Amino acid sequence: MPASVAVIGSGISGISAAHKLVDSGFSVTIFDQGKNPGGRLGLRSLRNPPFINRPVDVGAAYFTVSQTQFQNKVEQWQSLGLVHQWTDTFHVFKDYEITTTTGPMRYGAKKGLRSLAIHELAELTKKGVTHLQERKITSVVDKKNKVLVENQEFDAVVFAMPGLQASRIIQDEDLKKELSKQVCLPVLSAWFVIDSDTPKYDAMFVNDHEVISLIINDGKRRKDNAPVVNVLTTNDYAKTRLENIDYYLDEIVDHGLEIWNIKSDVVEKGITRWSMAQVAPSSRVAMPERMAIVGDAYSDNPRIEAAWLDGVAVLSQLEVLN
Ligand SMILES: Cc1cc2nc3c(=O)[nH]c(=O)nc-3n(C[C@H](O)[C@H](O)[C@H](O)COP(=O)(O)OP(=O)(O)OC[C@H]3O[C@@H](n4cnc5c(N)ncnc54)[C@H](O)[C@@H]3O)c2cc1C
Repeated sequence: MPASVAVIGSGISGISAAHKLVDSGFSVTIFDQGKNPGGRLGLRSLRNPPFINRPVDVGAAYFTVSQTQFQNKVEQWQSLGLVHQWTDTFHVFKDYEITTTTGPMRYGAKKGLRSLAIHELAELTKKGVTHLQERKITSVVDKKNKVLVENQEFDAVVFAMPGLQASRIIQDEDLKKELSKQVCLPVLSAWFVIDSDTPKYDAMFVNDHEVISLIINDGKRRKDNAPVVNVLTTNDYAKTRLENIDYYLDEIVDHGLEIWNIKSDVVEKGITRWSMAQVAPSSRVAMPERMAIVGDAYSDNPRIEAAWLDGVAVLSQLEVLN
């Protein structure tokens, strides 16, 4: 019988860890508490004509590529038509001046970044991985020769999530305390549709603003030119506004409209909260030999690529399985 591994989290790090584990001959079960897979690859669907069910990315805005290992994966996604190169040039808003900045190529996904998680989970299912969505895990206990995930025994477990979330599940008090030290910053993410042509900008970093940090033209990101805009707040603004978020929607949208000088009517809007949007770069907490933790935090630049690569390296933490 192959050794059994539970992966808790169907975000991008859990998915890449699951690939590595199943390709190495282990029996893998993925648990995730969310209604949908993908974690912070957040998506909402528009409700009103003519854009009924059109997706909008409301979590991760795009991804970049720097390492060959991730590049290979991205090329696969490109060849399947799942992702495309979007732009390497963003505008910058600072003190009411607008300039441009060029950086790495940013990639977008036609059906939203969550579609990558859906695609990868279908691939994992074909490889024999069990995937259980809407399964919140509340307890993981190290039993020395086994790990108990609620009342199910596994040979090992992978926490594919921020340390703070893992600290809520792990029963060991010392470990809980260490993991809960991870710094996570919140963001509010609003989106709106205007009754007009798509705005002219691809995206804009908003610097030194009290409310807004980034504005994205989802129509250009998705390449359908729909007049849909996504606005992300600063961490400081979100910190004190994580309750009753609907109350802040108009304020956030109004700032977005003002910065982009949009005069058209807003015909649909919405807001979501990410209480753990950005994790600070962290050292990995020493885990018991049958436990691993993966995610975007274990890099100097937490992001999608870092999460993917950290999942791929999962076996370096689980030598007990070798
Ligand atoms: C608003 C926002 C904007 C961002 N912008 C960018 C960007 O432009 N570019 C970029 O590269 N990255 C961006 N990111 C960061 C990027 O989304 C993350 O780096 C990446 O998605 C992290 O993946 P992960 O698998 O490590 O964690 P997550 O995606 O957080 O996955 C963790 C999973 O664990 C699950 N889970 C947690 N607790 C439990 C439990 N008890 N039981 C079961 N399941 C559980 C959660 O449901 C979740 O699915 C952004 C994130 C946000 C929120």
